Parts: sequence; structure tokens; C-alpha cells
Amino acid sequence: MPFDPLSNEQREIRDLVRTLARERIAPRAAEIDESHEFPWDVVELFREHDLFGLLFDEEFGGTGTGTLLALAAIEEVSKVCATSGLILAVQELGSLGLKLAGSQAQKERYLPHLASGEWLCAYALTEAGSGSDSAAMRTEAILDGGEYVLNGSKRFITNAGVASLYTVFAKTDPDAGHAGISAFVVESDAPGFEIARLEPKMGISGSTTGELVFNDCRVPAENRLGDEGDGFKIAMRILDRSRPGVAAQGLGIAQGATDYALEYAKSRETMGKPIAQHQLIQGKLADMETKCEAARGLLYGFAQMVDAGVDEAELTKASAMAKLYCTDVAMEVSTEAVQILGGYGYIKEYPVERMMRDAKITQIYEGTNEIQRLVIAREMLKESRASSLAGAV
Ligand SMILES: Cc1cc2nc3c(=O)[nH]c(=O)nc-3n(C[C@H](O)[C@H](O)[C@H](O)COP(=O)(O)OP(=O)(O)OC[C@H]3O[C@@H](n4cnc5c(N)ncnc54)[C@H](O)[C@@H]3O)c2cc1C
Repeated sequence: MPFDPLSNEQREIRDLVRTLARERIAPRAAEIDESHEFPWDVVELFREHDLFGLLFDEEFGGTGTGTLLALAAIEEVSKVCATSGLILAVQELGSLGLKLAGSQAQKERYLPHLASGEWLCAYALTEAGSGSDSAAMRTEAILDGGEYVLNGSKRFITNAGVASLYTVFAKTDPDAGHAGISAFVVESDAPGFEIARLEPKMGISGSTTGELVFNDCRVPAENRLGDEGDGFKIAMRILDRSRPGVAAQGLGIAQGATDYALEYAKSRETMGKPIAQHQLIQGKLADMETKCEAARGLLYGFAQMVDAGVDEAELTKASAMAKLYCTDVAMEVSTEAVQILGGYGYIKEYPVERMMRDAKITQIYEGTNEIQRLVIAREMLKESRASSLAGAV
């Protein structure tokens, strides 16, 4: 039995998501991958069953059912289709700025549209010249009367062109480094805002990844989140909460690949017996399952911390560890799944080939896994621990 700390009510909803994923999304997954088209039918399915609501408080039209269930839902969907799981994860990523730093008026104006799924949203931090080093961004926002005028561009933005609302980071004081960055919500029909191009990719092909261009783009001053100069802190607070969404996507890919490889290994025969009876294959399956379970422990542990209301500062390390481990496991386990299927694993008729391609991005976006290691080590160095070396010369 996998680690399952969900309450009975949460488990019922999780099981509904599992059924929807298996019956309605799994049959579409290969097509979504091959067509490279954004799956609006999956968005509609999520809307019909109030799955976007899982990410939001009741006050703003959500279900108020908590982080653990939200992450379990992303995991379930990602077991069969990582592109579809990402739709939920990015609805969280794109709305967290409002949830964490929005005024009551901003929340009331925007969150209900996002909780119902009527609007999709996006998070725009990365630029062509600044990914890991996000403070090196060059997009500027200059106050002009009651509006900010944005100029610059953002690269690799998930949901580009399908989102109605973008959380955008720009420099209001270009000489002030981190402290000169501010955050804004930008509606897709803002004058001077456009999507310049969409990127073809190795995996998660149904998800759009695009370049946003701001050309004297005018945004009302009341769309700024927090104060001028709060943007970098907001961006990092968002990532602490959102990275586990990528972890859940990674875990879903890993568990989906493990489940598929197990079934395959039971039916494929070599040397007179199912390959599942060969000890080298059993060793792979055992390692895959164990890694998924360890990853789940980190991910659900993070969710339980959030749902218990622990201090925000404690989330940084737990979030980075869940993201790092779940997504490294996604890559390792999906690669092993391909190996277990042998030649069939390498061809597109079988889903593990797609899972392996989809897994790769989870190690890169929302902070590469190198950056997660830096974050974890930085938090470790801040901690004071009783050491067995205490007193040693
Ligand atoms: C499909 C896709 C979707 C994305 N979606 C979004 C999105 O919705 N919103 C958004 O804002 N961004 C998004 N991104 C951007 C993504 O978060 C960045 O690509 C990522 O953070 C890495 O930045 P970079 O590509 O500039 O790589 P770089 O920062 O140039 O890094 C290159 C390599 O150097 C390593 N590296 C960098 N700095 C260090 C260091 N200090 N120590 C050790 N190693 C280091 C990195 O780990 C990496 O291996 C997306 C990217 C892709 C491909």
C-alpha cells in the first residue's frame, strides 16, 4: 500500500480524479503528445468536475480541501498524462502571487475566475538572459500616472497564449538589484502585450511554452502585487509553494511508468518465463517502487506541513527536497521503465517513451535541480544543529 495520509473525504475525491484520469485522459495522452495541441477538452473536464477548485480556498470559489489533496490530484493526472497534470500545477503557480501577496480586492476580482477554471493563468519570471539568475531580469515597469508601462520580454512561459492572466515580474528600479523588482498581474488583453512565439519541445508537447513581449504595455497601478520592490520575495515565496506541484508531476510520471512496466513484465516472456520472474528485472521494479514511495513521503510530508500551517520559512527546504527528489526519480524510473520494455520501450506505441521525454523537464523548470541543491544546502547552513563534532578540535 502506498503512503496514504488522506482523510476519507479527500480519498474519495482523489479516487474520482484517478478514475477520470484513467478513463478520460489516458486514452487522449498519446494524441496530445503527437498533435502538440493544447488539450482544451482536458481543461473542460477539469472545469466540469471542479478540479481547478481543489487549488483554491472556499472564500474565492474553491473547495478549500487543502494542499495534500491538490498535490495528490496532480500526481494522479500526471500518472497518465504529464501535460494534463501540468495544467493543474500551473493554475497553482500562476495564482500563488495573488493568493500570497494580493489585496482582498485583487483576490476578489481574479481568484474566482481561476478557481472555476474559466480563466487559465501563468507565471512569468524567466527571460532569455535570466533563468536561474532571475534577479538579472531586464524587463522594466515605469510608473506613469495611474499605470505602469512595461517594456521587455519573458521567455519559456508555460500557458503562453492560453492564459487569461499572467503574474509578471519586472524592474521598477533597475539599479536596485533584487530590491528593484516588482510583481504585477497582467490581463492577456492589456494593450502592448503579445505572445511572440511558441517553442517546439522534447516533451510535455501539449503544453504551450512561449515568449511574452511587452511593448509599452500599460497595466493599471492597482495590478501591482504588494509594494514596489517586493517582487523578488514574492517570486521566491511562490516557488516555495509551487515547486511541489512539479514534484507531484514528477512522482506521477514515475509511478505511471512503474505501473506500466510492472504489467508489461508480467506478460512479456523470455527464456520460457515472464520477464518479471527474472531477478534482474525484479531488482529494477523493486528499486522503482521504492524510489516512488520515498518520493511520495517527501511530497506528502511537505503538503502536511502546509496544511498544518507551519511557518512559511520552514517550507523552503522541504519544498526544494520534494522537487529535487521526486523529479530525479521521475527521470531515473521512467528511463528504467523504457529498459524493462526493451525495444518496445523505445517506440511511440508504448507510453513509457513519452513518459521519459516528459520527465526531463521536471528536473529543469521552476528552478533546475542544481538550484534546488543550492537552496537545500543554504538552508542547512542556516540551521543550528547539535553536532557530534561539538567540542572536537
Ligand atoms: C518547457 C519549459 C517551461 C517553462 N515554464 C516556465 C514558466 O512558466 N515560467 C517561468 O518563469 N519560467 C519557465 N521556464 C524557465 C525555466 O524555469 C528555466 O529554463 C530554468 O529555471 C533554467 O534557467 P535557464 O534555462 O536560463 O538555464 P541557466 O540558468 O542558464 O542554467 C544553465 C545550467 O547551469 C546550471 N546553473 C545555473 N546557475 C548555477 C549555479 N549557481 N550553480 C550551479 N549550476 C548552475 C543550471 O542548473 C543549468 O544546468 C520554463 C522552461 C521550459 C523549458
